[in-house]
Amino acid sequence: MDQAKPRLLIHGASGRMGRALLRLAAERPELQLVAAVSRSGEPLAEAPDGVPVLPVARLAEVPDFDVAVDFSLPEAFEPLVAACRAKGAALVSGTTGLSPGQLEALDEASELMPVLWSANFSVGVAVLRVLVHQAAAALPAWDADIVESHHVHKKDAPSGTALSLGAMVALGRGSQPHYASLRCGDVVGEHLVQFAGPGERLELVHRATDRDIFARGALEAAVRLAGKGPGRYDFGELLLASG
Ligand code: NAD
Repeated sequence: MDQAKPRLLIHGASGRMGRALLRLAAERPELQLVAAVSRSGEPLAEAPDGVPVLPVARLAEVPDFDVAVDFSLPEAFEPLVAACRAKGAALVSGTTGLSPGQLEALDEASELMPVLWSANFSVGVAVLRVLVHQAAAALPAWDADIVESHHVHKKDAPSGTALSLGAMVALGRGSQPHYASLRCGDVVGEHLVQFAGPGERLELVHRATDRDIFARGALEAAVRLAGKGPGRYDFGELLLASG
């Protein structure tokens, strides 16, 4: 084991995102994958040889880790935060549908450990949030609407990404947009932010066609977060600060 490298735990490993993370972690030699956790702990073909897959009931038994990357469900949230605190590890989470209380708990946890939660780990959406803020500030009187489309298995609506884009609209012009959500087929994720004024319309749109982009973004965040001090970190700021 190379102790110089941040030790990585993947949480939610049997899901669509977890399997992508297990596969793509091999692209990041800066990280050392030490364990994975899923609800049942069944063996996973994507887990490299020698990397244990533990059931969530045995979360307390995972080997020491420096950073957890989590894409699971809100009900898994409290035990994972507790495990990170116990190990003195950083948390990168993309789990959406967290309650206001759970988001507040992330703030509290960030007093003791580095925390980065993002509703979207794509580079394009990080840039889109900046553009939406600018457009909203320039067009305060126009109607603002966000239309999001996702695959039929997605549980929360509006999507966490739509809500984070809505927060940028509110920051720019002082009022929330309207939301519309579509659940159809195998759509990875599409977000349209529309500003409509008299006789004209501005549309900003992002289309994700491969969920590997979110896994790669989260692994990039893990590399950049490991070794930082306690605090709440923003994916866009961490990513775009150094290009
Ligand atoms: P999925 O349903 O395929 O997988 C969910 C995973 O959570 C599984 O591994 C399951 O074993 C695990 N899980 C469920 N309950 C658990 C519990 N109580 N304890 C521990 N683990 C538990 O979902 P998915 O498509 O992989 O998405 C996972 C999450 O990531 C969702 O919230 C989704 O909205 C979000 N997501 C975020 C981004 C982003 O960029 N932030 C991108 C894609 C998906």
